[in-house]
Amino acid sequence: MHESLTQPVTTLAGIGGQTAKRLEKLGIQQVIDLIFHLPLRYEDRTRILPIGSLVPDQNALICGTIEFTDIITSGRGSFICKISDGTGFISLRFFHFNAGLQKRLVAGALISCFGEVRFGFSGLEMIHPEYKKISSKEDCITETKLTPVYPLTEGVRQTTMRKAIQQALNLFFQSGQSQIDELPEIIRKKMAFSTLHEALETLHSPDQNITLEDLENGNLPARRRLAFEELLSHHLSHLQTKKANRQWQAPVFNTNQQCIRQFLHALPFTLTTAQKQVIKEIEQNCQLQTPMMRLIQGDVGSGKTVVCAYASLLAVESGFQVAIMAPTELLAEQHYRSFCDWFQFKEYKISLHTGQNKGKQRENILQAIATGDSQIIIGTHALFQEAVNFSRLGLIIIDEQHRFGVNQRLALREKGSHSNIKPHQLIMTATPIPRTLAMLNYSELDISIIDELPPGRKKIVTRAVSSERRDEVISRINHWTEQGFQSYWVCTLIEESEILQCEAAEKTAEKLITALPEVKIGLVHGRIKSSEKEQVMSDFKQHKLDMLVATTVIEVGVDVPNASLMIIENPERLGLSQLHQLRGRVGRGANESFCLLMYQPPLSDTAKQRLGILRETSDGFVIAEKDLELRGPGEMLGTRQTGQMQFKIADLSIDSDLLESVQSSAQFIEQQSPQIIQPLIQRWLGNTSHYAEV
Ligand code: ADP
Ligand code: MG
Repeated sequence: MHESLTQPVTTLAGIGGQTAKRLEKLGIQQVIDLIFHLPLRYEDRTRILPIGSLVPDQNALICGTIEFTDIITSGRGSFICKISDGTGFISLRFFHFNAGLQKRLVAGALISCFGEVRFGFSGLEMIHPEYKKISSKEDCITETKLTPVYPLTEGVRQTTMRKAIQQALNLFFQSGQSQIDELPEIIRKKMAFSTLHEALETLHSPDQNITLEDLENGNLPARRRLAFEELLSHHLSHLQTKKANRQWQAPVFNTNQQCIRQFLHALPFTLTTAQKQVIKEIEQNCQLQTPMMRLIQGDVGSGKTVVCAYASLLAVESGFQVAIMAPTELLAEQHYRSFCDWFQFKEYKISLHTGQNKGKQRENILQAIATGDSQIIIGTHALFQEAVNFSRLGLIIIDEQHRFGVNQRLALREKGSHSNIKPHQLIMTATPIPRTLAMLNYSELDISIIDELPPGRKKIVTRAVSSERRDEVISRINHWTEQGFQSYWVCTLIEESEILQCEAAEKTAEKLITALPEVKIGLVHGRIKSSEKEQVMSDFKQHKLDMLVATTVIEVGVDVPNASLMIIENPERLGLSQLHQLRGRVGRGANESFCLLMYQPPLSDTAKQRLGILRETSDGFVIAEKDLELRGPGEMLGTRQTGQMQFKIADLSIDSDLLESVQSSAQFIEQQSPQIIQPLIQRWLGNTSHYAEV
């Protein structure tokens, strides 16, 4: 990219260090970032509106003669100036005024004003409008373009922003950059898009003949042109990653048929057809020369863990280590137990490595990982810390991928790389990703889907109940427990604060223990010591406890088939996919399961609609699609923190219809205009893009 565009914004006139710091909050650091900082709305100062035509809430430029002025002493006190243009009257109201203002605004003077029209005490008024004394009506109009109003951050003024963006645009146009990597004409013609230059001009300083409505509802071709280019760039970057991946060598896994038979035989169940299919895909992948990068999607309870175990078997039998990264300690511990069970027949060396390992124990584990003594290493994000060194890492498995950022995933992969060999990667997610999003977020991955649940599962009956019926719900637990079933009580909070969430769970547990003396109740949350947590979980699993009060830490992976009732407090605060995951903790046994969504009335219309979706369907894909509709895509994928799905301009609730063309255009560009790929990626993803890594 032309160097003038990658300079820090402080190179522009009027932007000092202080302002630059503030702009960072808006994601603006380099000159180029300003170009894609689009207006929120526009003001029309290109036309004088007749005062008689004004309606409240409208921003308008008007011109009129001052009829009279007055000082109101009641209330806050204000200076009123009534003006007319022959079509009607309007009052200008100033709460802050001094003698100077009173001297300037005198009866008989002609003025022009711009401001928001409101309905006031004595008809229409403008409060503190911009105003100018003029000598004739012709002096009134100074603008020929609509005026952009940009999103701001504290301490940055609109005029500062406008000037900075204008300078950035000039630099951009002068640099010729927009011609170098312009989209091919064929694509622009097909999509009826203008050039980048034209689109930017339209968006930052639109002509008066463009309607404000089109500009503000996102339908303007100029905005769509940019959104398209942004989505295209993301897609291209994934395709580049995929391509780069093909240049790496992979560890070759052989399949030891006898060992596989033993493994399958030792399992307490037979694999479903879907599991077998995915296993076959993995097997084929691991025999190729290039590293596998495969995403396995399967609804909660579809049995992804055993598929991981199978892949691990292939790796270990071929002499490689396996690293399995889970998002929570609870889940890592559970995988550890399952793996120990399933691999008993082989006596593999399996280690659990989490942040809880300290001192000597930690050293021993790190040692065993480094020497290759440990064959399967299960852990949390502690696995990609610097101190962890593998001896022959051949397979990386990442469970519940949406909890990790791309960077964590890649950091782990780096650990397994030596010379030009990179380990295979399997990524598991229970959050079904709508096809549209998969294309943008995961197109560097191959995708396998486990679209079948193990046999014998019953549907989970889901009901919404108001928290006003809490006592009724509590009494139902008694009945439930007497029948020999177990239950979960999940506490959620709107705050992201883990501490508060844990406190809420503690209080709830106390109350329930008092209300239900017959029921044995346990508590788990993120701040309970790991050993204690493990104890509670294993007590619950062995049915020494009837009920588990928990925070959303139990969301992923926890598996207790006899638990068949779940109460979720304040479900309206969670995303649909998250609720679906939580609910997936029940319905794992042979008996009918129930999920009670205990909401805080009154529910908003959207909240009602959302809870309704959960009642109606248990199809994770449908739920994910609806979640996407009703919330932003970033939220659904849990990538808000990692910023992965944050687009500068594209908005998938408006622009997802572009994705098909994005896909075909990407193919066209790869073949016909490969020279624009890198510039486009750099423009839209900058250095944050992970394509640079491979
Ligand atoms: P998830 O896909 O949500 O990670 P798990 O791997 O935890 O699901 O599996 C859920 C439960 O189903 C576990 O108890 C697991 O042992 C069991 N399971 C997995 N595959 C099968 C199968 N083919 N038949 C019966 N039960 C199975
Ligand atoms: Mg799982």
